[in-house]
Amino acid sequence: MKIVAADVIVTSPHRNFVTLRLTTEDGLTGLGDATLNGRELAVVSYLRDHVVPLLIGRDAHRIEDTWQFLYRSAYWRRGPVTMAAIAAVDMALWDVKGKAAGMPVYQLLGGASRSGLLAYGHASGKELPELFDSVREHQEKGYQAIRVQTGVPGLKSIYGIASNATFDGNTGVRYDHEPAQRGDLPNEEDWDTRSYLRHVPTVFEAVRHEFGPELPLLHDGHHRMTPIQAARLAKSLEPYDLFWLEDCTPAENQEALRLVRQHSITPLAIGEIFNTVWDFQMIIREQLIDYVRAASTHFGGISPLKKVMDYAAQYQVRSGFHGPTDISPVGLAAQMHVGLAIHNFGIQEYMQHGARTDEVFRQSMTFTDGFLHPGDTPGLGVEMELDEAGKYPYQRAYLPYNRLADGTVHDW
Ligand SMILES: [Mg+2]
Repeated sequence: MKIVAADVIVTSPHRNFVTLRLTTEDGLTGLGDATLNGRELAVVSYLRDHVVPLLIGRDAHRIEDTWQFLYRSAYWRRGPVTMAAIAAVDMALWDVKGKAAGMPVYQLLGGASRSGLLAYGHASGKELPELFDSVREHQEKGYQAIRVQTGVPGLKSIYGIASNATFDGNTGVRYDHEPAQRGDLPNEEDWDTRSYLRHVPTVFEAVRHEFGPELPLLHDGHHRMTPIQAARLAKSLEPYDLFWLEDCTPAENQEALRLVRQHSITPLAIGEIFNTVWDFQMIIREQLIDYVRAASTHFGGISPLKKVMDYAAQYQVRSGFHGPTDISPVGLAAQMHVGLAIHNFGIQEYMQHGARTDEVFRQSMTFTDGFLHPGDTPGLGVEMELDEAGKYPYQRAYLPYNRLADGTVHDW
């Protein structure tokens, strides 16, 4: 089953997406997500200039061999650009194989281990009343687990708070939280960790008081704290029984998690900016985390995601795959198939894409009573409407960055 064409499609219905579309000699097509938020065109070049020529004529059935060939033959390993490109090829090959077999991809990974995937959504508000409304809106949409992010007194704009800047004027619907803003330069935001550490526990106390003990609550620290600050936050949130505290320290300093563990039993999740299985090796083996936050798109695709979860299963570490809107419907489908198949699934992040994105990417997935399912269409269950995609050319967009009050650049 030779690959005869490999097209890289860039579209920007609400935000930029990069998609690889493989075609085989018998006319099957497969899709892979290669979107790297804020650096999209680097992956386009990596694919078009360096990977596509290697794919033409290859046997589409040889998924593992192709992955190893692309990873090892480049010599220069890892990094988000490389791994997003390899991910797109891997996903597209699984999509083709599913179509060739007449089965959804999760069947090829061992079949379903559950009937649906518990999903969490992003509730946010600058002040408590707005946050409570957002939690209720999510519950009305069916969500049974909710991430809570709020404003911090004294700070102007803050990560995780949906704003009117992301309002989708075409459909009249707020496009949830989208941090990357279109424009020539990134937005500057402000940050003060001491204010944040004082404020967040009061927010969770209020949310628990309003919504009761049952609702699973999550929170994202977005890599902003030092180890001892992260330990303090994890400890101070213990009374509110979080499902997880995410990215409490910068991902590069994995040793930091030992210190957080010494002080707190709040479950920890990390790994959305990790690129490979090896990034998780120590923190899973030493049981420093409870949830793997990798995303199929930035982690080399379905094949390594399945491998890291099989490794994590030995240590009772579960999945919590990264699912913001910059993971395209193709990347989301890829991780839903993995999540349905593995035994150690935990939860799936699910920020809904907007209507225009759903017209570009036709999806078989469902979201019912808070649970996702990738559907039973052969392959990944996503098809791209190329005419629709062609209406929305790339637009430069950057993620914001932070400065402290004295002007120092800080982790965003
Ligand atoms: Mg996060």
